[in-house]
Amino acid sequence: MSTPHLMVAQRTDPGLLREVNEDSYGLLAGPQAGLPPGSGVYIVADGLGGHAAGDVASRLAVETILQACAHTSSWGHPHDLLRDAIEEANNAVYRRARQDAALAEMGTTVVAALILDDMLMLANVGDSRAYLVREGELQQLTRDHSWVAKAVEDGVLTREQARHHPDRNVIYRSLGAASSVDVQTYEYRLQAGDRILLCTDGLTDVVPDALIAELCTTPDVDEAADRLISAANNRGGPDNITATLIAVSSGDAVPNPRRVTPHRMETVRRPSAPPSQGPSAERATRPRTETAAKADPNSKAPPEDATAAGKKRRWWQRRRRG
Ligand code: CA
Repeated sequence: MSTPHLMVAQRTDPGLLREVNEDSYGLLAGPQAGLPPGSGVYIVADGLGGHAAGDVASRLAVETILQACAHTSSWGHPHDLLRDAIEEANNAVYRRARQDAALAEMGTTVVAALILDDMLMLANVGDSRAYLVREGELQQLTRDHSWVAKAVEDGVLTREQARHHPDRNVIYRSLGAASSVDVQTYEYRLQAGDRILLCTDGLTDVVPDALIAELCTTPDVDEAADRLISAANNRGGPDNITATLIAVSSGDAVPNPRRVTPHRMETVRRPSAPPSQGPSAERATRPRTETAAKADPNSKAPPEDATAAGKKRRWWQRRRRG
């Protein structure tokens, strides 16, 4: 495949039970951002640490990674570029957490994709995921740094048990927890027709793989991304939901002029509610009736533990609780 043409849709939504969206995402694409043609950097992050902390961590991580990629001269070494950028983000979150007692517990996951010609470089920390949809098949490309994923690898849990386990949101690796972080990287070769999905567990916890695959192949990428968010909300929307969907087509194809790859650097998050509305535990679990009223009345009820589901915790926070 020659230099690919990339179409991208990015969405984030607080879901139906949370007032604060702790997820963030961003992208860097196109020659105007200093990148080679047919290339892009895409990031999704899921903050942890509670109100006024998780969203700070995820936003700071995304901004730091985008800045690092925008000002790099290392495009010849894309793996190092992603790893260095994420390590820089870890430093930024770690330092900020130590400067402000209110942010002391904050951290974030991150999954980052860098596309350069037909190469897809990925890097992750935590349990936000990258998927490939090729010829209708969904394949998870990243390894989760979560307690349940480790238990599956060790043969302690089955995949189905892990999917419904009450501790499925406990992660053992995150940005901001320590002065250094172990970043895992991956490399794949893209084909025309591929779709790459970066997402948080607010999507994958509630939407079955087969439906994710089906929705990702919706021809219009914007519509596909909207349908992914709706699918999670139709299943109770217990957690913040973020999806970045990238459609890869041959650079030889004439792109639809209405659909251009964005040439900009952008970090987006939903505005947080003001901080003076009560204890964070209540805020995190109180149903949002005004949003819930818009949900499909025929949708399935949220899982029984929906109020707790998706509340990301670090390994030691789980252990402390136990
Ligand atoms: Ca989450």
